[in-house]
Amino acid sequence: MLPLPIAETWYQATQIDADTTLIIEPHVHVLEQANMWLVQGRDRDMILDTGMGVVPLRPFLDHLRRDPDKPIVCVSSHTHIDHIGAAHEFETRLVHPLEAEEMARPSGLHSLFRRDMPERLLQTFLDAGYPPIGEMLIEALPHEGYDPESYRLRGAQATGLLNEGDTLDLGGHLYEVLHLPGHSPGGIGLFERTTGILFAADAIYDGPLIYDGPGMSVAAYRDTFAKLRALPVTTIHGGHDPSFGRERMLAIIDAYEARWASEEAALPRET
Ligand SMILES: [Zn+2]
Repeated sequence: MLPLPIAETWYQATQIDADTTLIIEPHVHVLEQANMWLVQGRDRDMILDTGMGVVPLRPFLDHLRRDPDKPIVCVSSHTHIDHIGAAHEFETRLVHPLEAEEMARPSGLHSLFRRDMPERLLQTFLDAGYPPIGEMLIEALPHEGYDPESYRLRGAQATGLLNEGDTLDLGGHLYEVLHLPGHSPGGIGLFERTTGILFAADAIYDGPLIYDGPGMSVAAYRDTFAKLRALPVTTIHGGHDPSFGRERMLAIIDAYEARWASEEAALPRET
């Protein structure tokens, strides 16, 4: 095994606005380096997605929070390995009903090693334009003596469910739940109507979208994109990559729809 360097810090936080903080794991391969969003409300805080779970997230978050004694609700936008790693550290854990079973007992990627990833999936990632993965999904160790073999995606039983049309009120931030399948069956977004901010998670992000992986559906993506087009959004905070505005969102959607149309046109037709 190649010796990996030791990371100075595992998590990295960037303040986005007064109440919103973006957290990433800079030493995770870009493919699985998800955005975690901390929003601090008047009555409670929210963490949207919890990364890979390589090391505990809660102590880092509590250090960032204005009041670490305030309740915090953990929302999982969907249940891929890079979004639910630390969900078990939170007392309140919400997810869409279609992915509650997957969150409780994860059946997809569960290890840090490339050898545990299906070849077809690796090819999908390469085809989408992601750089190749080395031996492992991490490019540094979180601390001296960390054994990557000991990593397992634990999963967590949901304590509540979020359906289309539900609202999540943090006090000062009121989110509408949008069911945005395509990337995964129970993917959700959170929309704040007063500001036009959408936390879209992996329904749309400004990087290589993958649409033919396990559990993904182009038909569902099309419906989700139609829904997003009609939404009065101003800013989109995705599950990966930098945030973007409405114009960029429409350009990303256009590019995908054009690609699907050309793929369909290339299919052999019955005569
Ligand atoms: Zn995902």
